[in-house]
Amino acid sequence: MRVTGVSTPTRPFRDNEDWLGSGPGVVVVLDGCGQPDNIAEDTERGCAHGLPWYVKTLGTAVLRSAGDLATPLDDALATAIAETATAHHGRCDLHHPSTPASTVVILRENRRTVEYLVLGDSTIAIDDGSPEPIVVTDDREIRIPFPSIGSDEEQAKRNTREYMAVVEKLRNQPDGFPIAAADPQAAYRALAGHLGTEQVRRAIVASDGATRLVDRFGILTWTELLDLASSGGPEEVINQTRTAETTDLECKKWPRGRAHDDATLALCVF
Ligand SMILES: [Zn+2]
Repeated sequence: MRVTGVSTPTRPFRDNEDWLGSGPGVVVVLDGCGQPDNIAEDTERGCAHGLPWYVKTLGTAVLRSAGDLATPLDDALATAIAETATAHHGRCDLHHPSTPASTVVILRENRRTVEYLVLGDSTIAIDDGSPEPIVVTDDREIRIPFPSIGSDEEQAKRNTREYMAVVEKLRNQPDGFPIAAADPQAAYRALAGHLGTEQVRRAIVASDGATRLVDRFGILTWTELLDLASSGGPEEVINQTRTAETTDLECKKWPRGRAHDDATLALCVF
C-alpha cells in the first residue's frame, strides 16, 4: 500500500484539529469534535489540554497500537483511548460532556486482508473495481433529531452552542452515538469490516472537511473524488474544496456550520 496524504487547518497558521498519520501498512485520520478551541475557550471543556493535543495524542497512540498486526482494530482503538485518558494525568474531568472527542478512521493492510474501522463522521471510500466505490461513514450523530428547526436552517444550526450542548450530552450514551473520547468501550461500537487485498485497487481515508465536494456540495461523485486524488494528489482535492468554499462564504448555497473546515485526505494505492 502506497500512501500520500495531506492535513490542513481551515487557514494557514491556525490550529489543526484534524490529525493524519501513517506507518507501514496503516493509515489513521482523526477529526476533533465540538467547537474549535478558539471559539470554546470561554466554555468549560473540563480539560486543560484542548482538542489539538487530544487528536495528536490519540492519533499517535492509535498508530502505535494498530501497528501490531495481531491486535484487532477495535482492540487497538480501545487501547489508544485508554492510553490517552491516562495521558490527561488526572488533571482533567473526563466525565465532562465536553471532554475532548474525535472521529477515528483506520485503514490497515494485514497480510492478505485490508481492514477498516470508522467511528464518527469521517469517511473511507474503497475502489474495489465496481462502478461505485464502497463508502463507509458513521452518521449516527447527524441522525439525532434536533427539534424546532427546519431542514434548511439545520446545517447552520449545527455549530451553535445550543446544538453542541445537546450533542455532547449524547456522546457514548446508550441512546446517543459512539465517538472516541475517554471511554474505551466506544471502539467496540465502531463500523468495521475487511476485504481481500486482491479486491482493493485504491482507497481514500478522509475527514468530512475533505469530502465536501461530494457529500456537501454535490460537485463530484465518489469515483470522481478518487480520480481527482489519484491524478492531482490529495492537495488538489483540498485546493478545489477551498475554491468552492470561497464562492459561498456565507454558507447560503451550501448550508454548513463553517465556511471552511479542517480538511484531511489520504490516498492509498494498492
Ligand atoms: Zn486534559
